[in-house]
This record gives sequence, structure tokens and C-alpha cells, in this order.
Amino acid sequence: MKAEVIETIREMVGRTQRLRAKGKSIGFVPTMGALHEGHLSLMRRSRAENDVSVISIFVNPTQFAPGEDFEEYPRPIAEDVRKAEEAGVDLIFTTTPEEMYPTGYSTFVEEERVTRPLCGKTRPTFFRGVLTAVLKLCQIVRPHRVYFGEKDFQQCRAVQRMVSDFHLDVEIISCPIVREDDGLALSSRNVYLSASEREEALTIPKSLDLAESLVSEGVRDPAVLVARMTELITEIPSARIDYIETLSADDLSTIERLQGDVLVAVAVWIGKTRLIDNRVLAIG
Ligand code: AMP
Repeated sequence: MKAEVIETIREMVGRTQRLRAKGKSIGFVPTMGALHEGHLSLMRRSRAENDVSVISIFVNPTQFAPGEDFEEYPRPIAEDVRKAEEAGVDLIFTTTPEEMYPTGYSTFVEEERVTRPLCGKTRPTFFRGVLTAVLKLCQIVRPHRVYFGEKDFQQCRAVQRMVSDFHLDVEIISCPIVREDDGLALSSRNVYLSASEREEALTIPKSLDLAESLVSEGVRDPAVLVARMTELITEIPSARIDYIETLSADDLSTIERLQGDVLVAVAVWIGKTRLIDNRVLAIG
């Protein structure tokens, strides 16, 4: 089935208004492109649960800090359109930084709790950019349901907070992490890895396996878990740890003991590539 590419906000707004007027349900998957099976899993679910399935492909400049990879970020648009079509997407919204943030633009969304730990520490303007873009895209696409991957667990929680705090009339659906056969979480940034770094990156999911087995052996002290994971990852010469943390999966608050639903979250630099991964452990 052919997907239609819509390149302007005005055209997209008109289209979704007409779809809503006809009573069609709209599913939406915001992406930055360089699509892989992780993205496609969200699109298939959106296809299955809605009359019309929309995605956006927009590398959002406001979520990149100076010196990060905004320019290098892969943009294989023709390939992305083909993949999205195969996943049953009807409309592909692409826009430009100039259209999203014209001269004089000055309004941003700041969430002040769940965005503070983890990625918020070393990327202090990241979630401000993400939430601003997600809110704007929701205003443009007017979806009934928006699909996010748990690969970006903190992003899911931040968007859920924004939707609740701003009374947005949209359902947020979080979907499981899609991994390669060997366990590495799919990411558009995996293309930056050399063959040897790709091997070394496997230590990230292995550290989550270790966390899970330590918990099943009875470890309940977060410090012990983090120390053992740190030990494993620092064996890899190209790895530099950004964070390894255990938090309440519910609201990302600090925990003294590994109990209940615990988010084990990891961000590690492999050479020049920063990768994130996580696992939620249900601990009795
Ligand atoms: P991005 O293009 O990186 O902004 O990602 C767009 C959406 O795809 C986000 O909701 C991500 O959480 C989701 N996503 C990215 N990688 C994966 C993955 N490996 N499994 C599931 N969802 C993913």
C-alpha cells in the first residue's frame, strides 16, 4: 500500500481535521527516521489499533545540545518511506526545523520531576526539546493514540506526565523494546558502531541480564547491583559509563531497596556513540 508523504504543517493539519470529521481514529508514531524494527513494531501496532496510521520523520534540533550528533544523524528518507509503507503506514509527515521553530519561536515545555534523573543529568535540555516537539506534533496530527518504545523509558514517563499535566486528549501507549538476536537493543545510532564496538556494545544488555540474575539470587541493595554492573562494563576498554541507576519504574523516584517494579537503566558510551538500554524488574 502506498503511503502519502506530507511535507507541511498546514497540509497535515487540514488532513487530520478532515479525518477526525469523518470519525476516523488516528494512531501516531513520532520518529527521527533511520527506521528499524523497533520503530516498525510501533507502526504495526498503530496500524492494527486505528483506522489511519500516521508517522512523523523529524530530526528535532531542540533535543540536541551543541556538539551532539544533530548533523551526523542518519537521514535515509527514501528507505524510510519504503519501510513505513511495508508497516502499513498511511501518512508520513516530514517537516523542517525552520517550519517547526520559525524566527521568533520562544515557547518550550519543561517537566520538572521525571526528566531530572538519568538522561536529564548529562543532557539537561534534551527532554525540554523532546516534550516540546511531541506536544507540537500532537497538535498538528491530532492523534487518538500515540505509540512510544520502552527503549526510551524515561521519555515514555515524561510524555505520560505531560499528557496528564496538560489534560491532553490522547492515549499514550508504550511498547516493548525490540532487540537484535544477540540482545543489543535496536537504535538508529547503532550504525555509528565499528564491528569491534558492535561486539563490545553487547556488554550493555549483558549487564541487564546480570542485574536480573543478581535480583533472582536475592540481592536487594541497589548499590550492590550497580557495583556489579559497573565492574562488568568497565572490563570493556571502549566503554565509558554515563549512568547505571535503579529507580522506581512508576515515577522514577529514588529507591533504597530493590522492591516492587524497579527500572534498571543504563547509558554507556561505546567509543563516540552513546547507547541507552533498560529493563524493568518486578521484584516480589
Ligand atoms: P527515535 O526515532 O529514536 O526518536 O525513536 C522513535 C520511537 O521509536 C521512540 O518512541 C522510541 O522509543 C522507539 N524505539 C526506538 N528504538 C526502539 C526499540 N529498539 N524498540 C522499541 N521501540 C524503539
